[in-house]
Amino acid sequence: MGLDISTMSVMVSASLILQSITLIYFFFLANKYPGVGIYAIGTLLSAIGFLIIPICPFISDQFIEFNLKFLSNLLLISSQILYTIGIIQFLNKKVNSFFFIALTSASLVIQFYSIYIKNDFIIRNMGIIFTSITAYFWAIYFLIKFRERYLYASSIFICISFVFNIIFLLFRAIMIPLTHTKALLDPNVVNLTTFGSMFLFDYLRNAGFIMMICQRLYHQIHQLATLDFLTNAFNRRAMQQCLDQEIAKFNRSKIPFSLIMLDVDRFKLINDTYGHDRGDLVLQHLTTILKQNLRSEDILSRWGGEEFLILLPNTDIQESFLVANRLRATVEENPANNRLIYYTISLGVGTFNQEYTGKLDSLLIAIDQALYQAKENGRNQVIIAKNL
Ligand code: GH3
Ligand code: MG
Ligand code: MG
Repeated sequence: MGLDISTMSVMVSASLILQSITLIYFFFLANKYPGVGIYAIGTLLSAIGFLIIPICPFISDQFIEFNLKFLSNLLLISSQILYTIGIIQFLNKKVNSFFFIALTSASLVIQFYSIYIKNDFIIRNMGIIFTSITAYFWAIYFLIKFRERYLYASSIFICISFVFNIIFLLFRAIMIPLTHTKALLDPNVVNLTTFGSMFLFDYLRNAGFIMMICQRLYHQIHQLATLDFLTNAFNRRAMQQCLDQEIAKFNRSKIPFSLIMLDVDRFKLINDTYGHDRGDLVLQHLTTILKQNLRSEDILSRWGGEEFLILLPNTDIQESFLVANRLRATVEENPANNRLIYYTISLGVGTFNQEYTGKLDSLLIAIDQALYQAKENGRNQVIIAKNL
C-alpha cells in the first residue's frame, strides 16, 4: 500500500475538524448538558495536533522542530484528557481535578524529557500511550459505573471503541521497539496502522458521544411528554397508551387486568383550608404513598385534577379490591405535610374480562360510577364496578 503518513495525518485532522463541527452544533443544541463543550474542544485540539505532525520534517531549525513536536504532543495529550473529563461531566459526576492535573503534569514532564533532553522517540511514544490508556480506563470506569440506564447503548458503544483503542495502543507499544521505528512519519506498518486506527477510533468514540447526547435529549423529551409535571406519575396520554397495549395483550391472551380510579375526598376544602400549595403537596404525598404500595408492574397515572387511575396487569377483581382497600387504609393512616393534613380517598375498581372485550370506555364509565357511588356512600371507601 502506497499510503503516505503525512497525508494520513492531515486526513485524520480533517476528519476531526469535520466531527468537531457536529459536536459544536450539539453543544449549542444541548448546551445545558455539561461536558459537551469540553469534549468538542478536545476534538479541535486533537485536530490541530495532527495538523502539526506533517510540518515537523520541513523545519530546518532543530529547536523550532522540538517546540512543534512538544506542542503537537501537548495538544494530543490534552485532547485525550479532555475527552475523559467531558464524558465524566456529561454523566454529572465530579471530576477529580487532582488526578487529571497529576496525569497531565506527569505526561508533560515525560514529553519534555524525551524531546528536549533525550530526543528519544520510544519514550515520547510510551508517554503518550500511557496517558491515553490511563484516561481511557478512567472514562470506561465512569461509563460502566455511573451511566444512567437510558444511556446503556451509547455507553457500551464508547467503551467498546475505547477497549479496541487500548488494545491497539498496546500493540503499538510492543511493535515500536520490535520494528526499530525511529520516527512517527517512518512509512512502516506500525505507523500506517496507527494513523488508520486513530481515524477509526476517533470517529467511533465521537459517534458514541453524539449518540449519548441524542439518547439524553430523547429521554428528557419522552419524560416531558409522558410524566405529569407535579407528581411525576404518568400523565393521561401515557396511560392511554398503556391501556391500549393492555387491551391488545388481553385480546391475545385473555388474561384479565384491573383498573382503580381514585379521587381525593373533599380536596377543595383542603385547598381552601391550607392553600393551593399545600394542596399540591398533598397530591405529591398521595403519589408517593400509592407508588410505595403498588407492584413494579402496576402503572399509576394522574388522570386529571385530584383523580388518579391505576392499571393492575394480570389482576382479578378480588385481588384488585384488596389492593384498593389497602391503598385507602394506608392513605388514611398517613397524613401529609409532616402528618398535619389528614385526608382520605374514595375508589372505584373494575376488571376487564371477556364481557368487556373491545370496550375499555364501558369499563372506565363503570368504575367512574363506582367511584361516584363511594362518594355518595360517605367517601373513604372502595366500591366494585358493576358490569355494564
Ligand atoms: P369530592 O370529595 O366530592 O371529590 O370533593 P372535592 O372537593 O375533592 O371535589 P371537587 O371536584 O369539588 O374539587 C376538586 C378540587 O381539586 C378543585 C380543584 O381546584 C382542585 N385541584 C385540581 N387540580 C389541582 C392541583 O393540581 N393542585 C391543587 N392544589 N388543587 C387542584
Ligand atoms: Mg375530590
Ligand atoms: Mg375530582
